[in-house]
Amino acid sequence: MSKTVLITGAAGFLGSHLCDRFIAEGFQVIGMDNYITGDQDNIHHLFDLPNFEFIEHDVTNYIDIVKPVDYILHFASPASPIDYLKIPIQTLKVSSIGTHNLLGLAKAKNARILIASTSEVYGDPLQHPQKEDYFGNVSVIGPRGVYDEAKRFQEALTMAYHRFHGLQTRIARIFNTYGPRMRLNDGRVIPAFMGQVLRGEDLTVFGDGSQTRSFCYVDDLIEGIYRLLFSDHILPVNLGNPDEVTIKTFAKEIIALSGSAHKIKHQPLPEGDPLKRQPDISLAKKILNWSPFIQRTEGMYKTFNHFKGVSKSKLSKVEHKDFKKHIKL
Ligand code: UDP
Repeated sequence: MSKTVLITGAAGFLGSHLCDRFIAEGFQVIGMDNYITGDQDNIHHLFDLPNFEFIEHDVTNYIDIVKPVDYILHFASPASPIDYLKIPIQTLKVSSIGTHNLLGLAKAKNARILIASTSEVYGDPLQHPQKEDYFGNVSVIGPRGVYDEAKRFQEALTMAYHRFHGLQTRIARIFNTYGPRMRLNDGRVIPAFMGQVLRGEDLTVFGDGSQTRSFCYVDDLIEGIYRLLFSDHILPVNLGNPDEVTIKTFAKEIIALSGSAHKIKHQPLPEGDPLKRQPDISLAKKILNWSPFIQRTEGMYKTFNHFKGVSKSKLSKVEHKDFKKHIKL
C-alpha cells in the first residue's frame, strides 16, 4: 500500500510543485487549500488522477480526515509582503492556529510533519550569511511582523510537539524561491519584474536597489524539502540558493532577458524590507547531501517562458501599485 501525504497550500506555488513530486514518487496525495492566495490552475492537471484527492478547506478550522495519513507538509500561508499587508489576520492564523490543528492531526494519525518556515525568522539580519543558530532581528510590530512572528511561533509550537509529545517533526527555513506558478500579481520581485516587462512597463526597484536577495529555483527547493522530510534531522534547516544578487542588478538581468528596452524607476523602500539575505546552507549540504544546482540564468529563462504563456487576464491584474497605500496603514 502506498503511503498517504497531506499537503496544505496545495494550490499555491510550492504546494502544487510538492503535489507533483509526491504523485511522481507514487504517494497518495491529499491536497488542501482554501484558495485565498492559491490558484486552482496550479493543480488542475491532477484532479483526474486516482492517487490525488483535493479538499477545499481553511486549515485554521478543525481538520477532519478519516483515512490514515503518514506524512503532512504544511505549506499553506500567504508568502509575499503585499499579501501580509492585505490579509494580516489570516497570515497570523494560518501559521499559528493552522499549525496547531495540523500538529494535532499529525499526533492523532501518528504522522510525520514538515513545517514550511522561512528566512523571515531572521528578520533584517545582523549576521550574514544567516546560519540556523542565528536568533534573528525581527520587528514584532513592523509590517512583516504578522508573517515573521507567526512563523517563529510555528517553529516554537512544532518543537514543543516534538519535545512534549515525541512527534516526528521537520522544519524547513525556506529562502527566496522562484519559478513557474508564482502568482504574477503577488508583488514579489520576480513576478513583479517579469509582469512589468511583459506589459511593457518600467521596472519598479524599491529603494536604491542595493538590497540583496539569493534566489533558488523551485525544482532545487522541492528536492531539498523531499530529502529533509526523509532525514532524521529535527532542528530547523536552511534551504535556499546562496547565489546573492542586488535587486538593481537583478532588474537589469530581467530587462536583458526580455530583449526589450525597459527603464528602471525607483520607489521608496518599504518599511521593514531586509537589506541583505543569503542562506548559509552548510547544514543542508552535510545532513541532506543537498545543494541547489540550477543557475540563475537557466531558472530565470524557464520562469520567464512560463510567464509569457499566462493568460492576458492574469497578466493585467496588477495589485502591485497598491503596495504604498498598504504600508501607510
Ligand atoms: N522589490 C522591488 N520591486 C518590486 C518588488 C520587490 O524592488 O516591484 C524588492 C523588495 O523591496 C525586496 C526584494 O525586491 O528588497 C525582494 O522582494 P520580495 O517581495 O520578492 O521578497 P522579500 O524577500 O522581501 O520577502
